[in-house]
Amino acid sequence: MERTEWIDMDRIHGFRVFVAGAGALGNEVLKDLALAGFRDITVADPDTVEESNLSRCVLFRPGHIGMNKAAAVAETLPELDPDCTLTPITDRIQNLDLEGYDVYIGCLDSISARLHLNSHAMYYRIPYVDGATDAFRGKVQVVLPDGPCMECSMNGTHIRELHRTFSCIPGEEIDPVILSSGITTSSVIAAICVREVLKIACGIEDRCVRGVSYYDGMEGTMDIVSLETNPRCPNHGESV
Ligand SMILES: [Zn+2]
Repeated sequence: MERTEWIDMDRIHGFRVFVAGAGALGNEVLKDLALAGFRDITVADPDTVEESNLSRCVLFRPGHIGMNKAAAVAETLPELDPDCTLTPITDRIQNLDLEGYDVYIGCLDSISARLHLNSHAMYYRIPYVDGATDAFRGKVQVVLPDGPCMECSMNGTHIRELHRTFSCIPGEEIDPVILSSGITTSSVIAAICVREVLKIACGIEDRCVRGVSYYDGMEGTMDIVSLETNPRCPNHGESV
């Protein structure tokens, strides 16, 4: 296969993308989606923009402080591509109907929100690309309808610890030095997420990362941890 012959701009333009989370990683993902040609994007985030977000979120402006994050990015993303429509949702994903999309992208900081998206992805047979970052490390997991899901991978102690590492604890003070070091990690992980979504949109999901791809920014390495479908996982029964 030639390096770019699989790119199908018509499919990319019409692909319906749902992004959960408009924080640091979500901003990078949305920027990459718009620049890659995606034009039908929905983003959900219940949080508001704070001054500390401005230095690591490419789509926030000083006038957005106090505004809902999804509404804020909906104002600035069309600057990158006027043909891109970004629909903002200001509610938690746990309250949403998640039907009618072609792919989900998770840019979340909680395990419960990820598992919510994961179970809907499996039920509706919608591919789910999940990104997570922690200072100089990050990971991307691609969940496809017929493969292992996020919950399948949460049974081993090792994997469970990794999931904890990549999740914030609500209310906990986060070290600004760690957050500052994370912006380049967010860029890398966002780029990998959108590359995987490009493959799915263009019909070559068989070339997607299988399992979990771990990025170590200090060592400059990437490792793939393969996963198996867990027969006891509740997400592999009946679907629509
Ligand atoms: Zn599963």
